[in-house]
Amino acid sequence: MTATTYQPGEIQGLIEIDASKCKGCDACKKFCPTQAIVGASGAAHAIDKDRCLSCGQCMINCPFGAIKETHSALDRVIRKLADKDTTVVGIIAPAVRVAIGEEFGLGTGELVTGKLYGAMNKAGFKIFDCNFAADLTIMEEGSEFIHRLHATVKGEEHAGALPQFTSCCPAWVRYLEGNFPSLLPHLSTAKSPQQMAGAVAKTYGAKVYDMEPEKIFTIAVMPCTAKKVEASRPEFNSAWHYNHEHGAHAAEYPDVDAVLTTREMAQLLKLLKIDLATTPAYEGDSLFAQYTGAGTIFGTTGGVMEAALRTAHKVLTDTEMAKLDLEPVRGLEGVKEAEITLFDKQLGQEVTVKVAVVHDMGNNIESILRDVAAGTSPYHFIEVMNCAGGCVNGGGQPIQGGGSSW
Ligand code: SF4
Repeated sequence: MTATTYQPGEIQGLIEIDASKCKGCDACKKFCPTQAIVGASGAAHAIDKDRCLSCGQCMINCPFGAIKETHSALDRVIRKLADKDTTVVGIIAPAVRVAIGEEFGLGTGELVTGKLYGAMNKAGFKIFDCNFAADLTIMEEGSEFIHRLHATVKGEEHAGALPQFTSCCPAWVRYLEGNFPSLLPHLSTAKSPQQMAGAVAKTYGAKVYDMEPEKIFTIAVMPCTAKKVEASRPEFNSAWHYNHEHGAHAAEYPDVDAVLTTREMAQLLKLLKIDLATTPAYEGDSLFAQYTGAGTIFGTTGGVMEAALRTAHKVLTDTEMAKLDLEPVRGLEGVKEAEITLFDKQLGQEVTVKVAVVHDMGNNIESILRDVAAGTSPYHFIEVMNCAGGCVNGGGQPIQGGGSSW
């Protein structure tokens, strides 16, 4: 099976089972959050594309290497890097930098931010750390949460729905759209850091790079296969709308032109004969490589919600939030909850906020959502990540013992 190149808007689902390699062992079924894998034990399996979230968990857990991605932007990225008229921006997710070193013989989990910046700079990328955009996401999600909370406490009409759900994980967003569409108003309206980064790179970034926005090619480097589907969603072209309103008349372009997984970025560097292990560290070349500690914790479960809550706490009380003690929820493996009480200066009263953090979505989310639908949920804010442990274990990360999947 060969991965095909793709254009934005084309991808509906991108995981396929190679029937000639599948042994029908059922291992993949245990990792699928939507029971999208069909076929009897012992017979070759197939994927129901309507149910598949493209999270890639089946692929990284198949013991026979029988599951592959059908779409890759690698060829297009190589062509853009060679094009002197194009500014290629690499948007690097937090979970990539603790995993890509493995593909170059470095230790599992070794943090290689500087080396990755250096290797990508050598390849011709402008560095845009996705943590910068994660900080923007946190400000948006935190502000939105304050607005919804205050409007609800005051009993205002048009208060946004509580609990507020995080919106960073595209597999989770697709799950909600397909399985609980009536709960979509609970989803934060903030874009994921990937999509914010793309929009910023082609608007404010165009000024920083002194470049026409249509000559900027944005490539997100992600631990996640579902991020390819997210980038290809036709509604993510806000940079074009913004630039168009401000006088640009170029043909339409997406905020994020292409996504490479951690494995594909390793493959690209190897094709370009760049050894990440021996590349000197580089600090980045603009404001877009700057970020706070809040953006950094996005890659692990609990990070998004904690970062947004910390921001809300600071805004409402002028003080830093103490460490959040997340306690496991009885009977649910992948759900933790916490409660904080604070004096809200804007409201002039004490408020108690109860939050939940859910990962390994397929095994844990349904009962939580049924409570929300029934109006009995005790929570005000819920973070959901599809993958067990969060993006560090995403479907685009190096496959243990398997090297690159291509
Ligand atoms: Fe992708 Fe992270 Fe969601 Fe997994 S948890 S599907 S890696 S965004």
